[in-house]
Amino acid sequence: MSLRAEIAADLCAGTSNCVEELPEVFEIGPDGLARVKIKNPTDVDLRRGAEVCPVQAISLIDISTGARIYP
Ligand code: SF4
Repeated sequence: MSLRAEIAADLCAGTSNCVEELPEVFEIGPDGLARVKIKNPTDVDLRRGAEVCPVQAISLIDISTGARIYP
């Protein structure tokens, strides 16, 4: 299953957990909030990055169906 990550800017608290877990995918922008660097990374378990977010600001979307599978 190919996934992409989306970050809800209105939920992100800027804790950097996702960046520490998956720095190849997430980064902190100039606004102090997380953003996605690579939309469709391969060989990366996006769920690892999503699950460390304390406010569940990171959603995982199944690219083929458009369905949200996390949270
Ligand atoms: S872990 Fe969640 S709250 Fe923290 S920077 Fe990433 S998206 Fe924002």
